[in-house]
Amino acid sequence: MKRYFLSLLLLPLSLFAAQPAQPNIILFLVDDMGLMDTSAPMLADDSGNIVSQPLNAWYRTPNMERLAKKGIRFSQFYAHTVCSPTRASIMTGQNSARHRTTQFISPRGKNTGDHGPEDWNWAGLTSDDVTLPGLLRDFGYRTIHVGKAHFAPPDHVGEDPSNLGFDVNVGGASMGQPGSYWGQDGYGNLNPKRATWAVPGMEKYYGTDTFLTEALTIEAKAEIDRSLEIDAPFYLYMSHYSVHSPFQSDPRFEDNYAGSDKDERSRAYATLIEGMDKSLGDLMDHLEARGIAENTLIIFMGDNGSDAPFGGADNIASSAPFRGKKASRWEGGIRVPFIAAWGDPQSGHPVQQQLLIKVGGVQSQLGICYDVFPTLLAVATAKPPMDHVVDGQNLKPLLQGDRDPERKEVFLSHFPHEHRNNYFTSYRAGNWKLIYHYLPESGRDADRYELYNLRKDPSESDNQAAVQPERLARMTRVMTRQLDAMEALYPVVDGVEQRPVVPSS
Ligand code: CA
Repeated sequence: MKRYFLSLLLLPLSLFAAQPAQPNIILFLVDDMGLMDTSAPMLADDSGNIVSQPLNAWYRTPNMERLAKKGIRFSQFYAHTVCSPTRASIMTGQNSARHRTTQFISPRGKNTGDHGPEDWNWAGLTSDDVTLPGLLRDFGYRTIHVGKAHFAPPDHVGEDPSNLGFDVNVGGASMGQPGSYWGQDGYGNLNPKRATWAVPGMEKYYGTDTFLTEALTIEAKAEIDRSLEIDAPFYLYMSHYSVHSPFQSDPRFEDNYAGSDKDERSRAYATLIEGMDKSLGDLMDHLEARGIAENTLIIFMGDNGSDAPFGGADNIASSAPFRGKKASRWEGGIRVPFIAAWGDPQSGHPVQQQLLIKVGGVQSQLGICYDVFPTLLAVATAKPPMDHVVDGQNLKPLLQGDRDPERKEVFLSHFPHEHRNNYFTSYRAGNWKLIYHYLPESGRDADRYELYNLRKDPSESDNQAAVQPERLARMTRVMTRQLDAMEALYPVVDGVEQRPVVPSS
């Protein structure tokens, strides 16, 4: 990265004068939030009309609805199946098969699984890695981390976001969930039962009734103000611990669900969602109060499929009408909400000209978590080093509401480990989705191949593998080629690497 400083210093000053002003950026990332965990429907029909689902009627997220009206929502946005892979992809712009943090980073060890590849990147990001905040900082941004990090295990350099390109860290560390959301518990620090996952810092809220989501929002607003004091554009990575377990009820919203026949955990989960939504609204209000809404870009997204406490990993429940939930191979494991908007959309505003966002738009072309990296770098007029491979593509045409003919409609999610589903790669190409099982005898997965037409069969109920042998063989070949191109690591049995087997067609 140093060579960029040098090359920038050699540029004539007149070039800087010609550069458009850099917008502020808020990446509002919600942990474990699936695309159905909201009253702002994310699905659309073939004509691009929003289609509400039963779960949309259960949740209350008025500020997501408000944000969606200001900008564009995506009906098909993908992330990896669990936290750390997606978070590393946002930071690097790479598919997890390439950056090799393919499993969630655990404080308890390598978390490889019995047959996982030993060389997977269980140590996560280091200070030597190219990162999104590091690049934005090089190009003039004040970079703020608030909330959950989960970039590296304990006692590794990457556990502290300050070592990964962030100027400021509020509440981020190695762990992937909070000890407690309750101030009375000191967010885990005051409760021995919850100390393993205790959120660092935030001492001034200990013993108060300030819910963690609220405390992080207050701190984020203060950091925005500090950025304004020094007149630097900011990148706020607002990475909420909510709505990850533990599903503790947020008392501020309990009354809204009290009359429901749903169980206590489901009601508590809904309060976590609503508290997260209040945070979004508070930040939007703050931008308006400070007069910076029109030059602040807001990206809202989840980091993996829903973990809502309805049904198991293979049921049509938590993400209905899709099957599955977080850590599963199904659409419910990888589909997440995505909304992009300017805080105050104004046609003709000079800063917004750099990235036109369709107001009230719905985009049905595929977007992927690692597309955020090139998209934000471009709007910030920043660039990665030439030798840094980026799998993501700039979302600019899609954000305008257009269809990007250059964009490949593919997404590959590689999971050579054990969790709720074991040792699989899913590969979406157009309307079709292949799920390849490396060790079908492990767990509940009976067949090596699953093939679904998502257009006709969105719930992945009708496996076409046996009746579409040519398509199955072709997709398995292409999937393997893409995995090899990314130098993916495969499961291992008795020292033998389990490369995908292409079926005879
Ligand atoms: Ca997560």
